[in-house]
Amino acid sequence: MKIFNTQTRRKEEFKPIEPGKISMYVCGPTVYNLIHIGNARPMIVFDTFRRYMTHKGYEVNYVSNFTDVDDKIIKKANEENLPANEISERYIAECKKDMEGMNVMPATTHPKATEEIDGMIDMIGDLIEKDYAYPTSDGTVYYRTRKFKEYGKLSHKNLDDLESGHRSEGHALKVTGNSDKEDDFDFVLWKPKKEGEPAWKSPWCDGRPGWHIECSVMARKYLGKTIDIHAGGEDLIFPHHENEIAQSEAANGVPFANYWMHNGFLNIDNVKMSKSLGNFFTVRDIAEKYDLNVLRFFMLTAQYRSPLNFSADLMEAAKSSLARICTAVEHLDFLMKNASAEAMTDEEKENEAKAAEFITRFDDAMDDDLNTADAISVIFELVKFVNMTALESSSKEYLASLKEKIVLLTDILGIKVEKKEELLDADIEALIEERQAARKAKDFKRADEIRDELSAKGIILEDTRAGVKWKRAD
Ligand code: AMP
Ligand code: ZN
Repeated sequence: MKIFNTQTRRKEEFKPIEPGKISMYVCGPTVYNLIHIGNARPMIVFDTFRRYMTHKGYEVNYVSNFTDVDDKIIKKANEENLPANEISERYIAECKKDMEGMNVMPATTHPKATEEIDGMIDMIGDLIEKDYAYPTSDGTVYYRTRKFKEYGKLSHKNLDDLESGHRSEGHALKVTGNSDKEDDFDFVLWKPKKEGEPAWKSPWCDGRPGWHIECSVMARKYLGKTIDIHAGGEDLIFPHHENEIAQSEAANGVPFANYWMHNGFLNIDNVKMSKSLGNFFTVRDIAEKYDLNVLRFFMLTAQYRSPLNFSADLMEAAKSSLARICTAVEHLDFLMKNASAEAMTDEEKENEAKAAEFITRFDDAMDDDLNTADAISVIFELVKFVNMTALESSSKEYLASLKEKIVLLTDILGIKVEKKEELLDADIEALIEERQAARKAKDFKRADEIRDELSAKGIILEDTRAGVKWKRAD
């Protein structure tokens, strides 16, 4: 398996620290809103990496955090007049629903920043002791960036270049106006509480952690001082991951991560997706129109490091491509039902061996830095081969082996190709009635359960003034 390592800027042969095992940390979302389809890209591509490595026989310890203390969460909490943890808990639950819809497996551990504050205080204390950090008079603690000689080794920036004109990039490194700060490049590890903000006791002041420290602490706690792979979107390379390295390596005295993987950005109609431009879609918006299986398939049509353009046309194209695979599987099911012979003829045995070559080619594409674009092309070649040879076959064994191969490969990608069990209209209406009754009885838990059950089967509910309407996602 070759992985493009952001730090060395080369594709490298993957060698795990412990044979047969992989420790992997993926920076997760800040939970103040429904996740958008940009956030979904790292979830889908690194889940695919995990599935593929598991298929190759590795045991993957996969950690992905939820950042549940942050300015945006606090702002939203103040707007809704609710405690910050109610906002973060709500959006963690919503994020998990979207993950399920996209067939993203839950991480081995999903730590939350607010549950790891003690560990952060310990690491900050340790950094102060080692002279890599210092508290100031108002209780803010800064990291002494220049003291970490290798600062910039991931993003290939050096502090002198940043100083002579590129400073705008260093949003976390800007002058703060705090006169006790020793250097513009120093970044915050701990900051004092402001009115209306959640706060924790610490040796320096009542306050809360800076953003970067949580990942250093959680990665060490759940995976160890040196981990195999650290991943996230490319916007995190600088300053977030650079700062994580500075914190972890100064505190632990050993390399932090052996491989750094970063996904490229998702654009909308060739324009960078951003909330301020208003050109963004939540995963929930997409789920209104499509089965999220289509979104997952669409995301994997590009290699994860390439930029990926999202548009209505491209989603439609993804939907019909995926349908071609599903139709082939459906066709095989139909043929199997009517197949007369069990065993394969010699010709079918030969064809089976040919079909097996597609699996090797799929693996070759995936082994090349997870080239899912090429891997999907191989699946289409297999589908073509199936369509060419299956019709003439009356052997159940041969037909079943073809289906097995398509399902094996699509399963590795987390793509579902078998028909969902269809609900009859009458069953749907009975469930909707039960949900209305549950709501009347204020049993919102049951009402939500029913909505989720229906949504998992592709039924979308809409509460209107005229009552509940439903439709099937296509
Ligand atoms: P955030 O909640 O902004 O910290 O983002 C969570 C994850 O989503 C990070 O790994 C980001 O790099 C990633 N991400 C955010 N926006 C996009 C985008 N438009 N395309 C790809 N990845 C993104
Ligand atoms: Zn992180």
